[in-house]
Amino acid sequence: MCCEIFHAVRRKKGRYWDVLTCFKHTLSVAEEREEQPMSDCLFCKIIAGEIPSSKVYEDELCYAFYDINPQAPTHFLVVPKAHIQSVSAVTEENAPVVGHIFAVIAKLAEELGFAGPGYRVVSNIGEAGQQSVPHLHFHVLAGRDMTWPPG
Ligand code: 5GP
Ligand code: ZN
Repeated sequence: MCCEIFHAVRRKKGRYWDVLTCFKHTLSVAEEREEQPMSDCLFCKIIAGEIPSSKVYEDELCYAFYDINPQAPTHFLVVPKAHIQSVSAVTEENAPVVGHIFAVIAKLAEELGFAGPGYRVVSNIGEAGQQSVPHLHFHVLAGRDMTWPPG
């Protein structure tokens, strides 16, 4: 197994490809998959623009928007554009988008000025975790001192 694998996701016309490229052996594997937004998913509808939202950031893999019920002076959500139910549904195959989302969060924290004082990233999972929207999302909370343990 080569350690120099570069992973990218390419999108075109509602389809996307996981592209794994090994620079050492010039090997490239592209796997085409159908993109399947969930028709009854609130965040899939927000991503598609069917439900309005206040956008913080967008790229080909993720969308960030302000939470409708903010729990801190700054509170936005970052979601993958592909429908993934929660952290519990993260696999080796779809995990790269999670790393990408964390890189986006770090960049936004710098740009929006809360990286210095600090902030919190939270993902609720399932019923006991108080997840109310079953589309993977990371809450980014900033602008006040957080408390621990969380409720
Ligand atoms: P969860 O409870 O699943 O961890 O987080 C879901 C979040 O989505 C909540 O913080 C809730 O306020 C937010 N939310 C629910 N519906 C909407 C909506 O229509 N627009 C926006 N911007 N946020 C929403
Ligand atoms: Zn969804």
